[in-house]
Amino acid sequence: MDGDFKAEPFKIKAVEPIQLIPRREREEAIQKVGYNLFSLNSDQVYIDLLTDSGTGAMSDRQWAGLMQGDESYAGSDNYQKLVAVVQELFDYEYTIPAHQGRGAEQVLFPLLAGKGQYGISNMHFDTTKAHVELAGAKAVDMFTENAVETGKYHPFKGNLDVEKAEEFIQEKGTEKIAFIIMTITCNSAGGQPVSLENIKNTKLLADRYDIPLLLDAARFAENAYFIKQREEGYQDKTIKTIVKEMFSYAEAFTLSAKKDAIANIGGLIGIKDDEKLYKRARSRSVPLEGFPTYGGLAGRDMEAIARGLREVIQLEYLDYRIGQVKYLGDNLREAGIPIQYPVGGHAVFVDAGKMAPHIPHNQFPGQALGVELYKEAGVRGVEVGTLLLGRDPDTGENLQAPLELLRLAIPRRVYTDNHLDVVTEGMKRVRDKADQLSGLKFTYEPEVLRHFTAKFEPVK
Ligand SMILES: *Cc1c(COP(=O)(O)O)cnc(C)c1O
Repeated sequence: MDGDFKAEPFKIKAVEPIQLIPRREREEAIQKVGYNLFSLNSDQVYIDLLTDSGTGAMSDRQWAGLMQGDESYAGSDNYQKLVAVVQELFDYEYTIPAHQGRGAEQVLFPLLAGKGQYGISNMHFDTTKAHVELAGAKAVDMFTENAVETGKYHPFKGNLDVEKAEEFIQEKGTEKIAFIIMTITCNSAGGQPVSLENIKNTKLLADRYDIPLLLDAARFAENAYFIKQREEGYQDKTIKTIVKEMFSYAEAFTLSAKKDAIANIGGLIGIKDDEKLYKRARSRSVPLEGFPTYGGLAGRDMEAIARGLREVIQLEYLDYRIGQVKYLGDNLREAGIPIQYPVGGHAVFVDAGKMAPHIPHNQFPGQALGVELYKEAGVRGVEVGTLLLGRDPDTGENLQAPLELLRLAIPRRVYTDNHLDVVTEGMKRVRDKADQLSGLKFTYEPEVLRHFTAKFEPVK
């Protein structure tokens, strides 16, 4: 009855003006920055779908919490609240804050991984891969075939291929495997969820070979929502119960608080009960991130995260959140635009490889489409494909991504459906000229994480 009414579960208390600069100015702007969307100023962008990271709108309660920041160097009250929420939601004994997700990674990973080893994941996020490799290990992705069949429905495209992982472990030898890290939701596959069955089976695999299982848990609540919607036996469970079960199978997690904690900055390390590991991480945190009761954050940031973690598991919020991403995805599909289907939790991923098949992977079809969408509608997305993947660290060879995607990430609680209608309209215009678009080639290519600062020119 009441469920028939579906609007945003909030009203808007503060607004931030945005504007669409004229097309001629957009064309000049994007040419001037070498066709790299990261190099645009935000005031040159109308609707910014570059990322859902740190771009969410905090609630009035989170803002109010900022005023209760306890900025003590050691033993801040906000840290205690953070520890309490981590214990309550995840049942993990130890919490170390970090300035953001990658800060957590740089503290934890070198304690578990070293030279000549491998980190196995369903799909590593780019900074996660970078930190596994900075620790001297090699990051290998073991996703299932479903993840790359963008047009075909599968409820859990984020799953890890347990069989493939087991073969790999047997081939390399147990001592060569540093850890398995499960990314929930699987960002690089399109924000696709991982089933609880798959987390459980991965845990069984990890136990068989005595390998630690970690979670890269940036979007844990979105993942839990999909489990509730799609996995047999979980319909009647609360999000909180599902979250607790997900975390019960891992030893430790790293988490970017800029996603599902709906904070503008922050990250966390959680360790279930391994006191020795906690003590080592705590020592490493001091020179890298800060004293372990603040880890590079202000007290007020920790308060915002603690409050955000409680808000994000509310079912009304997740209904709205996942519903809005689906709304954009459905509209694009209706317009004949190929996307990763079903849509994931935080973004719609347009299949640029399918939309502009004449552009070869090393001329970055996702980037070409993103540039065109900006010119058409002032909307900023981001390439997730060969450009992002980079080169093989050993051979220097250009790798080819399994998918060439343009990611349209939706910030949490920020844009209305009207904004998303502009995105659909812009994508329709891109669709109409997709077969005439040219690819891009480097005029400057940095050695690591090249997508952030590279410059391009169109291929003639
Ligand atoms: C964002 C993200 C990270 C890194 O977190 P930052 O806060 O951006 O440093 C790691 N893993 C995943 C899956 C992410 O989405």
